[in-house]
Amino acid sequence: MVLQLEQAGAVAILTSNWSSGFGVDKIFSASTKKVPTLDVALEDYGLLYRLAESGTTPVVSLQCTSRHGDPIPVYNTLAEMKGEEKGGEYVMLSAHFDSWDGATGATDNGTGTLIMMEAMRILKKVYPHPKRTILAGHWGSEEQGLNGSRAFVEDHPEVVENLQALFNQDNGTGRVVNLSGQGFQQAGTFLTRWLAAVPDTMKNRIKTNFPGAPGGGGSDFASFVAVGAPGFSLGALSWSYFNYTWHTNRDTYDKIVFDDLRNNALLVAMMVYMACEDPEKLPRDKAVIQGNATDRNGQPIRNWPQQVKAIRLGPID
Ligand SMILES: [Zn+2]
Repeated sequence: MVLQLEQAGAVAILTSNWSSGFGVDKIFSASTKKVPTLDVALEDYGLLYRLAESGTTPVVSLQCTSRHGDPIPVYNTLAEMKGEEKGGEYVMLSAHFDSWDGATGATDNGTGTLIMMEAMRILKKVYPHPKRTILAGHWGSEEQGLNGSRAFVEDHPEVVENLQALFNQDNGTGRVVNLSGQGFQQAGTFLTRWLAAVPDTMKNRIKTNFPGAPGGGGSDFASFVAVGAPGFSLGALSWSYFNYTWHTNRDTYDKIVFDDLRNNALLVAMMVYMACEDPEKLPRDKAVIQGNATDRNGQPIRNWPQQVKAIRLGPID
């Protein structure tokens, strides 16, 4: 539809893609080839609508200074604390650095990034000589299809093969309330053991689902699950994430709930510590997928997800 309008000679497209929250719009990719697409916020859309309906043809004056540029390189940013006893085994913290451009990406995934950076700061201070190697992965190009983490999985088989566990957080600013075993038979035994070290006030509100079903997408933990490596998703309390901040024009700093981030950073630090110290390595046996297992879109999960290759354009001059 938008493409037809462009082909018919539209100089720009105005959209208002309501996000089912007061005054909030979703901002996704433009589907035009050359002309700009602009989001008109609710109140302005209402004004234009009323003017058009009353026969007072509204005239919109646009000044667009941005333009579509060439591809630019994107990067993963990694932090490492070398393990001293089992340095060839890894425990990972995971979040993505990139964000959608309707706002500043505060909760998708600025908050995940903050949690992992703070957890690393805590670990460095109180656990400077970890048993296993601790790696924090802050991925690039997640929003275009988990490209940073998929590329890491392809490029670092030594980490993937020797991964004890990865903890990813990427669904808003809330405190962690959900943890699934992602379809690994033994995940429940290990995660329960690690959670035992977490204070009741934090742990008792986490609903666990073991062995759970393997997540096929949604965020970077899935890049690891797809190759049979134990990647877990720390599911947050929503705080109206999907209506108000996820890929909207309102995903800004003022929406961050810092008390919850503090909770999450402490939780991650404790889980990473326990995973590093555990004398055993989490086995990768896959549980039989339950007949009623569904993904985050409510679609049934029948098979283990397939690995998907990262999109790479190659070196860019
Ligand atoms: Zn995200």
